[in-house]
Amino acid sequence: QQFLKGLPKVELHAHLNGSLGTQSLCDLGERLYGSSSEDFQKLCARFSRFKKDMDACFEKFAFVHELTLTQEGLRFATELAIRDFAQDNVQYVELRTTPKANENYSRRDYLQIVIDAIRRAKETYPEITVKLLPSINRAEPVAVAEETVSLALELAQAHPNLILGVDLSGNPGKGRFSDFAPILAQARDKGLKLVIHCAEIENPSEVKEMLHFGMSRCGHGTFLTPEDIEQLKQRNIVIECCLTSNVKSGTVPSLEEHHLKRIMEADAHKVICTDDSGVFDTTLTKEFLIAAETFGLTREQCIDLTLEAVQHSFASEQERTEMADRVANYVAILP
Ligand code: 5GP
Repeated sequence: QQFLKGLPKVELHAHLNGSLGTQSLCDLGERLYGSSSEDFQKLCARFSRFKKDMDACFEKFAFVHELTLTQEGLRFATELAIRDFAQDNVQYVELRTTPKANENYSRRDYLQIVIDAIRRAKETYPEITVKLLPSINRAEPVAVAEETVSLALELAQAHPNLILGVDLSGNPGKGRFSDFAPILAQARDKGLKLVIHCAEIENPSEVKEMLHFGMSRCGHGTFLTPEDIEQLKQRNIVIECCLTSNVKSGTVPSLEEHHLKRIMEADAHKVICTDDSGVFDTTLTKEFLIAAETFGLTREQCIDLTLEAVQHSFASEQERTEMADRVANYVAILP
């Protein structure tokens, strides 16, 4: 555990609003409402009532979304999510988030607030590099996806080393991939990378469409067939494996039955990720520990998985070299 905690880890699949740990949620509530206010007491009471099941996970998303409805809430939440990753010795994280609009901010403002918070966090947490992947929520209309891609393209011009791609996520039972394919294709043609939640639930025809369309990285990949896994391997597309998330949200029956096992047996490309460390009460260190305990991963395999994450990140070549060096330096001083 000490070894995994100290390892300079790389997180490639993390949703911003899902990535605030319990302490951070309390800090956020306290900042917004003041610790002695009635609102804060009510908030704490609601928080302590969450059960540890699937429904509670989604209740928690709604809970965090309420806390990020204001500009200040969103700004501080971004800082806290970065703090949580930094405290877990994550040296690089690609944060995804769905731009939202309400009376306090537009989708453009939302992204700008997150960008500003990431830049400011660099001063407080210089050890961690953060990139941003705006998310398309497939449960929302295509017009919203079009706005998100247009903002991502525009803001990527101003921040070329920060916004590197676009994510497709949201309830996999809602929306049709084919409706979003044209706007995703436009994003890709204009230089953005695509990370796509794929085969998260059983839907073989959609998986075929997604694989045919292509992607830079595959989110979850729970219901991929052996042929699909082989295809991804041949095309050097990595599968982002989120063990606790999949078990707690019920798409995988148990850790032992997690598809990471099949992916490892096929020697396909894989990385270990948290998905929503706050909502699922985990950290990247814990995810490595769980993978090591469940599948007998050795220290060397954990290092290799980290280096695989470095290679499949959207960081620049120089940044990737620096990340790999940090891993090598850490390994060199191990007893
Ligand atoms: P946000 O985009 O608000 O920063 O992060 C939370 C959102 O990410 C959720 O409301 C949901 O749309 C998306 N999300 C988080 N975890 C998952 C997941 O495991 N699967 C899918 N498909 N979407 C997710």
